Amino acid sequence: MKLLFDRVFDGAGEMLAMAEKEIAAATAELGEAAPISMPNTAYSLACHNAYLGKQIRNVSELARGFSEAKEWASGERRLGGAFNAGFATFMAAEAIEACKYARSPDPYGGEYHGHMSDAEVRELGVPLVTGDIPGFVVIIGSAPSDEEAVELIRGYQSRAIFVFLIGGIIGQARRQNLNMGFPVRVVAVGPDIWCAAHIISFVNRAAMIFGAVKPGDREAFDHYTFHRIRAFVNAFRPVPDIVVASGGGAIAMGFPVVTDDAADMWPVPKSLIIQQNTADFIETSLEARDIKIKVSKIDIPVAYSTAFEGEIVRRADMRADMDGSRSDCFELVVSKEAHEIEDHSIELIGPDIDEAEPGARTSIGFVCEVAGKAMQSDFEPVFERKFHNFINCVEGVMHTGQRDTIHIRVSKAAFDAGFRARHFGEVLYAKVKSEYESVVDKCAVKIYTVPEQLKELRAKATEIYNRRDERLGSLTDESVDVFYDCILCQSFSPAHVCIVTPERLGLCGAVSWLDAKATNELDANGPCQRVSKQRVVDENIGIWEDVNERVREASHGSLEQVTLYSIMVDPMTSCGCFECICGIEPFSNGVVIVNREHDGMTPLGMTFSEMASMTGGGVQTPGFMGHGKQFISSAKFMKAEGGPARIVWMPKALKETVGAKLNGTAARLYGIDDFVSMIADETVTEDAEALLEFLGGSGHPVLGMEPLL
Ligand code: SF4
Ligand code: ZN
Repeated sequence: MKLLFDRVFDGAGEMLAMAEKEIAAATAELGEAAPISMPNTAYSLACHNAYLGKQIRNVSELARGFSEAKEWASGERRLGGAFNAGFATFMAAEAIEACKYARSPDPYGGEYHGHMSDAEVRELGVPLVTGDIPGFVVIIGSAPSDEEAVELIRGYQSRAIFVFLIGGIIGQARRQNLNMGFPVRVVAVGPDIWCAAHIISFVNRAAMIFGAVKPGDREAFDHYTFHRIRAFVNAFRPVPDIVVASGGGAIAMGFPVVTDDAADMWPVPKSLIIQQNTADFIETSLEARDIKIKVSKIDIPVAYSTAFEGEIVRRADMRADMDGSRSDCFELVVSKEAHEIEDHSIELIGPDIDEAEPGARTSIGFVCEVAGKAMQSDFEPVFERKFHNFINCVEGVMHTGQRDTIHIRVSKAAFDAGFRARHFGEVLYAKVKSEYESVVDKCAVKIYTVPEQLKELRAKATEIYNRRDERLGSLTDESVDVFYDCILCQSFSPAHVCIVTPERLGLCGAVSWLDAKATNELDANGPCQRVSKQRVVDENIGIWEDVNERVREASHGSLEQVTLYSIMVDPMTSCGCFECICGIEPFSNGVVIVNREHDGMTPLGMTFSEMASMTGGGVQTPGFMGHGKQFISSAKFMKAEGGPARIVWMPKALKETVGAKLNGTAARLYGIDDFVSMIADETVTEDAEALLEFLGGSGHPVLGMEPLL
């Protein structure tokens, strides 16, 4: 019998020996000066960065880092020493993986996910804070059978737990044709235990990005991961020493380990749980990490989970295709009087899915009627915009767009399981009632599928959309009495506060002023509070004493003042989940904006990730600012510095998304036609000098503006 501590140290020794060999091989093959970094990250090797406080840039630095890591594994064979040995194991694992990436930018060639980009870390910010992703599981090894492997994964998926897979279970899932990938939140990380480094890197970057934890401050990392990252490990037997050592590191980070391997596991620390019945892994794990899952009981024949939100239904797999860009489709929420609605009435008016040819293009329209004493018409668009999420969480159903530009596909698998048109109604009913229970007493859904009728109804819906847009357009920061704050992201960025105004939505892009207002009215103690705007200090730059007071209080004293309209003077902070980031381009005196989806270079010589690493964690960084996409076309965008006329470069795809509105704003503010064509993109140049030349040629207004710096 071997003691558990001895197993941790022996396992760490194995990983270190392997790393030493890999580093020696890389040195011989590539040379000491050969660059080393993981792709699409500003944190180089994030585990080394986090624990040693050093950015590893080349092979010789990796070798030096290795000597330090080795020392971490030479402590006393007690608890504290075992924890350090666990961290040494992670650094060694990261070194092994880094050597692979030094040889090839894509060593797994699509077969495994391997390293995760900073953009992927950031993408999870909002679902994590809202609880849409209640936690992460790392599953290591092979389940007793292929069927049990898939059952476990799907069990987590249906509870919206994000699943990372390492080793044998990946092949098991593939044999069962399980759909995997980042969008469905099941990631096949890699075949070997050292691939765990990618997950630890992911977690450590979350701490740096959202929590502003400083590299080298290991205690702060432990504290952050323990309190803010609800992760845990499931390890199938047999669990060799090298996995035990990694488990030691996981436990040190606050992540419990559940395993069915009882052999040589003694003494058992509190966070190591032996559960010999693998069918109980999920329950045991959730309990150990104290994760409570809010289950939505919805009467449909397929699974329902936010894990399916990003699922794509391909043409070849679809049974029904309802495309609002080619036929009359729409979705609409209308408020009614209570007596006009029969609660939970779901009516299908027209033919069902099975009456159309497989794969044929059909039309659909939803009218969701709601009633409640506290219901307001301003809530209608807020609910309606959530239909996209509500419907997308159905397994085998894809929903894009909103209003009359929706596009819905139902997969053959969902159809075969019995999914029909009325189930859309069940989903909308259940979600609207549960999410908005404080204002919706009654809800009924009508589903229309007859083309002639849809044409007429769509026209009526369009009138309603137009009326709402007019109301929204008339909402300016000046025309309202209150702003709102949002502190939802504080569960990850404890000092971050968004101030949400009609003309400046939250930086995540998901919280508009109307959303914040609805959130506040639906839950007075929720994340959005009213912020009065009586005591104005400077309306041009956007300073109100009331806002400052709120920010001071909500940030627990870490912020003194924010301006709402300046990027240079006390700009609003960022948590990390921003849709876009803008940064000053000093040669043109303008700003470059880049969205999270764009992974190319910008004229600042930095990628999105690198720019994004300049701000975040609730800290003010003049010159850089995270923001939502819709803010770009706002008249309040950098108003203090001259407004959107400062924008000199944006990715082409972003221009296409915000172009029409931005052109409208520029025409209104500056009398410029087609302003967007004066802005460069990656097809024009990624170089600062060439950018300046282009701006001169396009007659960009920024060249006549005052210097920013
Ligand atoms: Fe987070 Fe701000 Fe979005 Fe609220 S508005 S969820 S605080 S980014
Ligand atoms: Zn955030």
